[in-house]
Amino acid sequence: MIKTEDKLMMMPGPVAVPPRVLMAMARPMINHRGKEFSAIYDDCQRISASLFGTAPENISVISGSGTAGMEAAIGCLNNKEDKILAIENGKFGQRFKKIAGKYGNVVPLEFEWGKSIDLALVEEKLEAGDIKTIAMVHNESSTAIKNPAPEIGALAKKYDAYFILDVVSSVGGDDIKVDKWNVDIAVTGSQKCIAAPPGLSIVSANERALSEMQNVKTRPYYLDLVAYHKSASKELKETPYTPAVSLFFALQEALKMIEEEGLDKRIERHYLMTKAVRDSVTAIGIEMFPQLNEVSAYSNTVSAMKAPAGISGEDIKKALSKKGIIITGGQDDLKGKIFRIGSMGATTPTNIMTTLTELEQILDDMGVIEQTGAVMDIAGKTMGKLYE
Ligand code: PLP
Repeated sequence: MIKTEDKLMMMPGPVAVPPRVLMAMARPMINHRGKEFSAIYDDCQRISASLFGTAPENISVISGSGTAGMEAAIGCLNNKEDKILAIENGKFGQRFKKIAGKYGNVVPLEFEWGKSIDLALVEEKLEAGDIKTIAMVHNESSTAIKNPAPEIGALAKKYDAYFILDVVSSVGGDDIKVDKWNVDIAVTGSQKCIAAPPGLSIVSANERALSEMQNVKTRPYYLDLVAYHKSASKELKETPYTPAVSLFFALQEALKMIEEEGLDKRIERHYLMTKAVRDSVTAIGIEMFPQLNEVSAYSNTVSAMKAPAGISGEDIKKALSKKGIIITGGQDDLKGKIFRIGSMGATTPTNIMTTLTELEQILDDMGVIEQTGAVMDIAGKTMGKLYE
């Protein structure tokens, strides 16, 4: 039996948390209405802002997972009659649609999970008129597709709509430019590319969105971004309600580690690790799941592969788990049909190599391929730069 601490977490979140970050959580409790907490909050705002591509004053942090941020964004910006265009091509786009249905007048635009978003169909919905808000997921972790955020942002601007973007599984592992892309509210979670434990949602909201929120009568109470923003302002640098203080210790440390690595280098590491997965699995005959078009791309942080004919993705997941490597399968209707490998956060090229080598062995055991060691060569070449 492999001990929990010896397991290799290769899921698209939660990810392995570096010891430095875990240790930070063991610090004694502090007053959340004092200077010490404000300094931590200030660090969190400043470094997060650079990951989002916005100014520190636009950032606030909610104690709650990524979904809390998604609900805060939709709920604070929309009254019940407001039309929200919810673009869905995976599990998390579907979640936006469900949240939008609770707070506003949802206009769904659904694509088969795994397919790319067709911009012409988005524009058709916008032309039909009256869309107040567009909600979309940037990095759809359930299918490993990167959706066209800059292009949707341009459409939001053209049709004068607000743009809410889920960057839960891309912030800290991909290039995000919320200001440049006309994103009004963006949300992330702590447990993905930032490599902190789950439980915090970082939200970026611009002046345009915050001022519109004043007109929304049904803003949620605990998740009221106006309250979060007010508390996060220059004078206070705190949260409206008691925060998960220990998680803030962890977030501060994880963000410092990102600063030390350098964001560009970190994004390149994520890119090369994800590419190494793609290059090597396709070389041994495994097909990638996403169906890309001219405006989509493979995710920079997670890979989704089709299960080989006659094999369930769940069996691949279970066989790797027996070797202490934790990956994920497909969600909902995709269960059994795909398997997913994360390359997020503090994941190293060696972790990727170990996972791919064991995967090759497992597929050999299942009679799908004949193991040749090809994955090591291919992945090694793709990630070569990371060993320099
Ligand atoms: N959005 C995306 C793209 C995700 O990958 C996830 C989590 O897997 C979520 C939203 C939901 O975040 P949480 O589980 O932290 O509430």
